Amino acid sequence: MRHTRRSFFQWTAGAALLAAGRSWGALAADAAQAVGAGLTEVDLYFVAEATRRSVPRVVRSEDQWRQQLTPQQYHVTRQQGTERAYTGRYADHHEHGVYRCVGCGTDLFHSDTKFESGTGWPSFYRPVAEGNVGTHVDRAWGMVRTEVHCARCEAHLGHIFPDGPPPTGLRYCINSASLEFAPLVAGKEETHG
Ligand SMILES: [Zn+2]
Repeated sequence: MRHTRRSFFQWTAGAALLAAGRSWGALAADAAQAVGAGLTEVDLYFVAEATRRSVPRVVRSEDQWRQQLTPQQYHVTRQQGTERAYTGRYADHHEHGVYRCVGCGTDLFHSDTKFESGTGWPSFYRPVAEGNVGTHVDRAWGMVRTEVHCARCEAHLGHIFPDGPPPTGLRYCINSASLEFAPLVAGKEETHG
């Protein structure tokens, strides 16, 4: 449980920084500006190393994505698709580790934040760090939803809903097809950093 507590403190520290200066909306606007300005680096948190560092953005052509990904992974991550409920490989998955972006390997969600939502999609109450994902307002299908994507390669992951459990009250409803699970040896993250 020790790493859970530490993760929470890291998150709390991040939230405090956000509260002190920037809102989620401002951060999203910054991210959009960064893309517009052609910035090539993105600041990410790495779970196994318990550290942040800047890495190059991942930008590939549609043909390159098609070659790298399965048809379903491509449809979900590059065409804003949604897998059918209860069909994804991580909807009922309970190992200890990190769920990474299938497109670029960015750490996205820790298994400690996964919960049973009963929706048929992997559900988390927060990402490993606020900067590892980006959001924008999605008005498709006559609904107003918050879309969430990988901050490094912009792979579509799913949507965020305000009906999650404490401590955030958020439900990150994520497609299994967007994720690649990487197990962590219990306690490994405590020996780093
Ligand atoms: Zn990615």
